[in-house]
Amino acid sequence: MSGIPRGTGTEVENLSVQADDIRSQSVVVARYIRDARRLVEAARAAGATVGLVPTMGFFHEGHLSLMRAARDECGYSVVSIFVNPTQFGDGEDLGSYPRDMEHDLELAAAEGMDLVFAPSAAEMYGGGQGTMVEPGRVAAGLCGRSRPGHFRGVATVVAKLFNIIGPDAAYFGQKDAQQAAVVRAMADDLDFHTRIRVMPTVREPDGLAMSSRNSYLSTDERRQAAVLYQALTRVRQAALAGECSASALVQSLEREIGEQPAVELEYAQVVDPDTMQPVAQLGKRALAVVAARVGPARLIDNILIKRRD
Ligand code: AMP
Repeated sequence: MSGIPRGTGTEVENLSVQADDIRSQSVVVARYIRDARRLVEAARAAGATVGLVPTMGFFHEGHLSLMRAARDECGYSVVSIFVNPTQFGDGEDLGSYPRDMEHDLELAAAEGMDLVFAPSAAEMYGGGQGTMVEPGRVAAGLCGRSRPGHFRGVATVVAKLFNIIGPDAAYFGQKDAQQAAVVRAMADDLDFHTRIRVMPTVREPDGLAMSSRNSYLSTDERRQAAVLYQALTRVRQAALAGECSASALVQSLEREIGEQPAVELEYAQVVDPDTMQPVAQLGKRALAVVAARVGPARLIDNILIKRRD
């Protein structure tokens, strides 16, 4: 946006930004917290509202949709790229998580991001991290049960990012519905002034939710993974046609997903979309959620069911 420093010319001289990145990608990259703070403060002083899109990079259309929303709604848009070690458990894919910083910077530039904040783990956690944010009940089930400590790491890094960037609005994807609910609850409980915006899931043509982890799939696994959304779509149709029993819907998910040998279901549930607690009978709003292992990838998806009643 005009009137707000974009990191070109003199204002980058005292920053630890990478000049090559700036020239070739025309997006400002801050690797250090103090630089990100300084740039955002300058934008705010010039009157801009600030939007933040927290990510782990390896961008796909899902990430880009969040960036577009930030750009449309805020004067100064920041995307963070940080593969956060505290949200990975032992034996998970922290080391092999896909990364492509160069391409990500090109895409962030093309989406008109004003700043990419890409700190190292040492910059974020260099002093150790004695203090962690412990999320409440919303984090207890589903992925919180299968990935102990995961949402603690998520809540902690999001709180740090909120304190570093101070966004007016932050953008998350519905694909990670429990994560969005955890962040919403954290922002509410800890009185962050940031508005939490949750944007629709972006899908491949066959319905598979876009995910950086889809890159782990073989051709056959990729084909079979489409069953997750197909099964979710079918239970939504059944619910809209009058099925009220959550256990009937869960059985339908288990049956259909079970037909694909490469897809090993971890959980299928129907929950309240705000609290993430299981429901027995469907009310006006319910969320059908699934997690599955497909080859080396752990995939999650969900569908919102809104009934008239
Ligand atoms: P990640 O880089 O996987 O941590 O994701 C960063 C943000 O993008 C999170 O808020 C995700 O929920 C969101 N996101 C990931 N995949 C999608 C998708 N297919 N559609 C919409 N948002 C997504």
